[in-house]
Amino acid sequence: MKKIDTLIIGAGLSGLSAAFKLQGKTDYLLIEKENKAGGLSSSFKKTGFTFDFSGHLLHFHDEKTKKLILKLLKKNHALIKRKSQIYSHGVFSPYPFQFNLFNLPNSARKDCVSGFIKAYEKRLKNKLKSNALLNFKNWSLSVFGEGINKHFMLPYNSKLWQYPLEKLSSDWCAPFVPVPKMEDIITGAYSKEKKNIGYNPTFYYPKTGGIQALSDAFLKQIKNINLNAELTDINLKTKTAAIKNIGKIQYKRLINTIGLKHFINKVTDAPEKIKKLNKTLKYTTVYVLNIGTTKINSDKHWTYFPEKRFKFYRAGISSNFSKRITPKNASSMYIEVSTYGKPINLQQTKKDIIKGLIKCGILKSPKDIIESMWLKIECAYVIYDKERAKALPEIFAYLKKHRIHSIGRYGAWKYSFMEESVSEGIETAKQIMRSSRRNR
Ligand SMILES: Cc1cc2nc3c(=O)[nH]c(=O)nc-3n(C[C@H](O)[C@H](O)[C@H](O)COP(=O)(O)OP(=O)(O)OC[C@H]3O[C@@H](n4cnc5c(N)ncnc54)[C@H](O)[C@@H]3O)c2cc1C
Repeated sequence: MKKIDTLIIGAGLSGLSAAFKLQGKTDYLLIEKENKAGGLSSSFKKTGFTFDFSGHLLHFHDEKTKKLILKLLKKNHALIKRKSQIYSHGVFSPYPFQFNLFNLPNSARKDCVSGFIKAYEKRLKNKLKSNALLNFKNWSLSVFGEGINKHFMLPYNSKLWQYPLEKLSSDWCAPFVPVPKMEDIITGAYSKEKKNIGYNPTFYYPKTGGIQALSDAFLKQIKNINLNAELTDINLKTKTAAIKNIGKIQYKRLINTIGLKHFINKVTDAPEKIKKLNKTLKYTTVYVLNIGTTKINSDKHWTYFPEKRFKFYRAGISSNFSKRITPKNASSMYIEVSTYGKPINLQQTKKDIIKGLIKCGILKSPKDIIESMWLKIECAYVIYDKERAKALPEIFAYLKKHRIHSIGRYGAWKYSFMEESVSEGIETAKQIMRSSRRNR
């Protein structure tokens, strides 16, 4: 049996960055089930178009990680000022909705402003219990009021999560949902002055190669990687992993970056209690329709679609991130549809999407479409509910006992971004190097 010091499962950005940091320092092996590295930060080429798994844009909060990523990309990156919007009531409003109500018809705008004022007064009067204790729906109602919820928050989030909003907790949304002050609501309702607020007012994107360019930049620095190597099962007591096309490997330490739920399902000696808790973890699946066109009528980066008449929740224009990911004189888009456990009819959904894009004016005619490609993200958004809150501490304690670091958006079973996957990969590798020095 092959022996390895550190086994890393999954070559998305978490696994790649961990391997990058361990390279030349300790004995490791990175395994990936697909025939290429990158995970969700992969791109696919078709007749001159480069398609990603929806928009994969780099927004930074940590200077060190930003420096590393930009250095690895060399000069292949552009800093872009976000231009995003919402389509509802037949008009486009700048994003974030709650800060830019000015374009809405009078009645909807009145709903939003008066609802916000009522919610604000109620909050002042009641000194609400900690927001973290409220479910998402009640949190959103308490913060934004009836109108903003009716016209954006609830329909949009219902479409994205495909799960009852009163069963979702509100602890995921703080970094992603900006909360306006009274002054912001009034200014945004009556003045056209655009406010570029939110977690990603600017972002970086590779000039060429799509987001795969970042994964490839890490890959170039890594020597010990096996592609087409899927972890099929693992025994935590004996520390042996069975891997397709490799066979059995005995490891000392393990970094897992595949979905926590899927990883636990592969553990042959998991206690019943852990298996039972694992069963309660849930996620939504996202289908991304990428299209290549001769023409798109918008200079925006992406648009949110809260209304039920549109099957999709978001549509982005990738050729507005970079002109070098399409053939000359062409444009490209990605459109996202979410589902919870139910398969979708791709042919019909594609027709509905095209109709929707024509209705709002982003596309002129179906004849403009020259290429398309569906990409499926089986586990896209993990569901934040009370079962998750109960299960995670016990599952992580069990993994820690067996020296397993489960990291990244899916290994840690959370809502996070590429930057965190990279910083967690690097940080975990450093921890492993420290502990192997101690044990020498
Ligand atoms: C719709 C959507 C949009 C997003 N947009 C952005 C964005 O704009 N900006 C941003 O920063 N982040 C974005 N993200 C988040 C981003 O994709 C993730 O944070 C990041 O890519 C996660 O990387 P990872 O390495 O942790 O996981 P993954 O990329 O999922 O990597 C896991 C790897 O494990 C492999 N694997 C799975 N099972 C096995 C097995 N049994 N054996 C071996 N290998 C296996 C997979 O093939 C994959 O390569 C988005 C996510 C979604 C779903």
